[in-house]
Amino acid sequence: MAFICNFAAINTISMRKSLIVAAFLLFVLKLDARQDQHVSRPKLVVGIVVDQMRWDYLYRYYDRYSEDGFKRMMNEGYSCQNAFINYLPSFTAPGHSCIYTGSVPSIHGIVANDWMDNKTGKGIYCTEDKTVTAVAGSYKAGQMSPRNMLTSTITDELRLATNMRSKVYGISIKDRGAILPAGHLANGAFWFDDSTGNFMSSSYYGNNLPDWMTKFNNKRWADSFLNSTWVTLYDKSSYVQSLPDNNTFEGPIKGENKVTFPHSVAAAQTNYNRLRYLPAANTMLVKAAKACIHGTQLGQGSETDFLCISFSSTDYVGHTFTPNSVEAEDMFLRLDEEIASLLKYLDRHVGAGNYTIFLTADHGAAHNAEYMQSIKLPAGNRAEGDAFTSLNKWLKEKTGKDSLVRDLSNYQVYLNDRSIDKYKMDREAVKHLTTEWFEQQDGVAYIIDLEHMSNSTAPANICKMAMNGYNRLRSGCLQVILQPGWYSGYGPTGTTHGTWNPYDTHIPLLWYGWGIRQGENFKKVNMTDIAATLAAMLHIQMPNGCIGKPIKELMKK
Ligand code: ZN
Ligand code: ZN
Repeated sequence: MAFICNFAAINTISMRKSLIVAAFLLFVLKLDARQDQHVSRPKLVVGIVVDQMRWDYLYRYYDRYSEDGFKRMMNEGYSCQNAFINYLPSFTAPGHSCIYTGSVPSIHGIVANDWMDNKTGKGIYCTEDKTVTAVAGSYKAGQMSPRNMLTSTITDELRLATNMRSKVYGISIKDRGAILPAGHLANGAFWFDDSTGNFMSSSYYGNNLPDWMTKFNNKRWADSFLNSTWVTLYDKSSYVQSLPDNNTFEGPIKGENKVTFPHSVAAAQTNYNRLRYLPAANTMLVKAAKACIHGTQLGQGSETDFLCISFSSTDYVGHTFTPNSVEAEDMFLRLDEEIASLLKYLDRHVGAGNYTIFLTADHGAAHNAEYMQSIKLPAGNRAEGDAFTSLNKWLKEKTGKDSLVRDLSNYQVYLNDRSIDKYKMDREAVKHLTTEWFEQQDGVAYIIDLEHMSNSTAPANICKMAMNGYNRLRSGCLQVILQPGWYSGYGPTGTTHGTWNPYDTHIPLLWYGWGIRQGENFKKVNMTDIAATLAAMLHIQMPNGCIGKPIKELMKK
């Protein structure tokens, strides 16, 4: 009995000890688990905008892309096959703003690249800011900031969410392609300066260029690239997706007097502007992006960083040579190599699976109108400058009053309210007369009165896009909707964008890396959903003007 009792006592003591040890272990484990309970986020987000990349370019050149560029994102990542712009007009500045704000011009205020301020009657460039000065570049090219954008961006929200510990940078050849995506709280934004061939910035971001960017500029890539000749990557006869190199629908690059390969722009060089038309500008941008990742240690800290890259040369080449050119085809085959090289760099320096990357476009482009006519498709070109003169002349004939229309731009009519007030005219009557004139013109489908949307006879989808694009203080009061295939271009060669039609508004939207499933879907999503999706994935607040919804299908469970 005693033995049993003793055994029980020993047993109780060792049980107590075990319990204490177990409780201690549990405490330690719990502490450990608490330390592991941070929000799960990638180390780096990279946003790529390819200026003027139509959705169909993913497939138009698919057979010739490498496995490591666009195809790596398409096949290993997620493709939203039906992503659309949901406002008008489909231009560069509203596109970049929409992608990063999840909002539309009506709210974020970037209604076009250039617009009229309805209060002052003055023209404004989207990123102009007379209160700041150039940093390491020419004076005028440096008076730039995101101040005209009225909402926060997803990049701003990331900075806010981490109490500014996240780093955000924007880089592009175009100022607006760097400034608008990087947002109001960016650590830096850099764009190409035509006068020096360097990447520059403005005092909005600080008074000096960071050392790594100065070092990059000192390598003088622009000089070597401008002196190089653009030849096709493959034998010219293999470019079967394009018209013959020599055709009448293409315009020359400024300074060249022919439209065929090889392109050599250095001979007529007056400044570095012509580099924008060469694939070398994309190469230089990727080199600068890598220098930024290295120089600022993006993706190496404890918080998520964000790099916004926008490729601009695709747009310059599209405008000049059209989507059907050997130049456009070669530009995209070469861009594919740049994307591959960037992905490899990210794998090496941030780690495969540690970064999330998305690729989209700010808008697409139409086929050249004369080319379309030549193959019996309906199309046409209505230059806004000519229409402006004719319209004012016609209004004078009808009313006896001069210059009743102040501007015709961005497919919108700005009435001259000061003159209308001075002459004590009925503003609505002037609007009706203007509408009457447009309705007599070739290629015009609808005129939407943006101040009385309910009166429009245009299809609801088009009206909604016009409404989303209308900002009372910055837009015109009438929206011109042309027939499909028509645009307001600058001449018979090249092409442009800006309309509601699918060739302008159907954009690629690829996602790859951390948090992204492999797959695709054909559900219609809007450009405004991009920022909402990023906010959901990063578990941060949506931008403050965001009207989009997260695309949950692309996220890993
Ligand atoms: Zn653009
Ligand atoms: Zn463009």
